[in-house]
Amino acid sequence: MVVIGARLIKVADIRTSLRTGDLAIYAVTVICVVFLNLLEGVMIGLALAAAHVLWRVLRAPIHVHRPAVPSSPWRVTIAGSCSFFALPKLNGVLQSVPAGADAVVELNADNVDHSFREALLAWQLQHQATGGTVNLEEHGNTVFQDAAHQAPRREDATELPLPPRTEPLLDGINKYHRRSAHQVRPLVHDLAEGQNPDSLFVACIDSRVNPNLITSSGPGDLLTLRNIGNVVCSHGQDASIDSALSFAVNGLGVQSLVICGHSNCGAMKALLAEADGADHSSLGPAFGRWLDHARPSHTAVLAGHPVGRQAAAAGYGTADQLAMVNVAVQLAKLQDHPVAGPALEGGAVPRACSMTLPLQASSGSRPMASRTWTQPLKQRSRAAHWPAGSCPGGSVP
Ligand SMILES: [Zn+2]
Repeated sequence: MVVIGARLIKVADIRTSLRTGDLAIYAVTVICVVFLNLLEGVMIGLALAAAHVLWRVLRAPIHVHRPAVPSSPWRVTIAGSCSFFALPKLNGVLQSVPAGADAVVELNADNVDHSFREALLAWQLQHQATGGTVNLEEHGNTVFQDAAHQAPRREDATELPLPPRTEPLLDGINKYHRRSAHQVRPLVHDLAEGQNPDSLFVACIDSRVNPNLITSSGPGDLLTLRNIGNVVCSHGQDASIDSALSFAVNGLGVQSLVICGHSNCGAMKALLAEADGADHSSLGPAFGRWLDHARPSHTAVLAGHPVGRQAAAAGYGTADQLAMVNVAVQLAKLQDHPVAGPALEGGAVPRACSMTLPLQASSGSRPMASRTWTQPLKQRSRAAHWPAGSCPGGSVP
């Protein structure tokens, strides 16, 4: 047995078990093999491993965090598997929150069973009776309320409905500092001395368009320029756009210029409504003047722009047809711009493209239309447009 036990010992296995926290199981297995017999030693090792896995699966990291400043709430973080196994720890942690204090419970659970839910709700009522407040925030995939109606189960990742917030911006800032700032800070720290973004991303100011979200990018990746209707003005008409283009191309040397439109765009609807005689003077004269930059897009639609015809043939409504033509027209403006044009022509900026983001769930998540060119620009065909709905590559290159 000693010989067999000695043969079982491998330095690589010891190192691996040391890293994975299984060294004790490994040692007990070897000892049992040596002092009992091979079969019993292996069986004991398997039983210990199974128990260890069960403990890891069933444990729920539950912690309480004292407020950094007196005006902040106490914070209770709950993660993992929230079952009756975790009740002793849950009760111990919740009792450490002082009576009458404000508290936030962040639930990031794999699953929640009925007993855990009941215990948490009971404490919530008890704590509120002392004059305190309890704000329950769900961040995971498992919906807390479901524990009252069904067996605990893990859910696929989904977007949970957010609770109504009394002060959305302040609540969001607080949540960011509680949950994400420590993860983002090292990344931002690396960028503190300078930025090297890949792209200038021109998008509408519409609150439903989130450039970083739809491009899976983060701090330092995109230089973002936003305005009503995602337009590029002709040179000299808007210092903001001219300077942004100059800073992106000449200052930072971006590799891509991107025009991003979207469906259901208010600016496009305003252009169409205006053509039907609607008056939007209530929005002020500046709004009307700004729409001047997008009016050529409407003219292009009326003139039978190929992107508009293809979008119409694909079944898109008039506003979305105009949105798709608009990004194509703005893209063409870049070619004529004294900063962007030569950079694209000479290859200093090798890529320019446009996309129209569908907001409707039925439209899927792929851009509705995309137009891309790469250098040399002279070889591209102005008439070549991909049909709406077929985005080569599926996303911005
Ligand atoms: Zn818009």
